[in-house]
Amino acid sequence: MPEIKETCDQGLLIVISGPSGAGKGTLCSALQRKMPNLRYSISATTRPPRKGEIDGVNYYFFSKEEFLKKVEAGEFLEWAEVYGNYYGTLKSEVGKLLKQGADVLLEIDIQGAMQIKKKFPQAVFIFIVPPSLEELRKRIIKRGTDSPEVIEKRLRCAADELSFIDEYDYVVVNDELEKALDKLVAIITAEKCRSRRV
Ligand code: 5GP
Repeated sequence: MPEIKETCDQGLLIVISGPSGAGKGTLCSALQRKMPNLRYSISATTRPPRKGEIDGVNYYFFSKEEFLKKVEAGEFLEWAEVYGNYYGTLKSEVGKLLKQGADVLLEIDIQGAMQIKKKFPQAVFIFIVPPSLEELRKRIIKRGTDSPEVIEKRLRCAADELSFIDEYDYVVVNDELEKALDKLVAIITAEKCRSRRV
């Protein structure tokens, strides 16, 4: 009998996007607790840290000059300007995690996701959506981290972002956290068992 090729032992690149306030952050943290082999790639940003955020844990916080120097040096797998700040995935961060045999989770915006899609079509692309734009507004306001102008900007962007849904392999509505989480676990588990990818 021929040997059965296991695909489950290969590191998977998982890209999660969705409007700000869709609950990506909470879902990604919960997902890592459920799937220990899944590791979050810490992004770099020029956005100032929010209350409670720690450099090297939530983000690598860089000045614009530092960030652009790294862009010049080709240190990013992808990068984009989002809401007036730069965000990017460092090649060193993803390389380190893949080398450890982990599945890597990128929580990045659509522009970044499309750059990853060109370079790694075999990655899994998941879009998280809120149940409605009204619910999204409520969540962003409740979070209390953004000024009214930024909230309006984020909501306008959310409407644009929803038009990119077709670029993603999966769409998960984050209505109830536990249900959305179950769906994410199911998607990743199935993708890990896929016999052949693109
Ligand atoms: P926040 O400022 O709320 O943490 O993130 C704002 C947006 O930036 C979110 O849509 C988030 O997905 C995106 N983002 C975070 N890290 C990265 C990254 O490394 N690359 C790109 N392209 N977007 C990112």
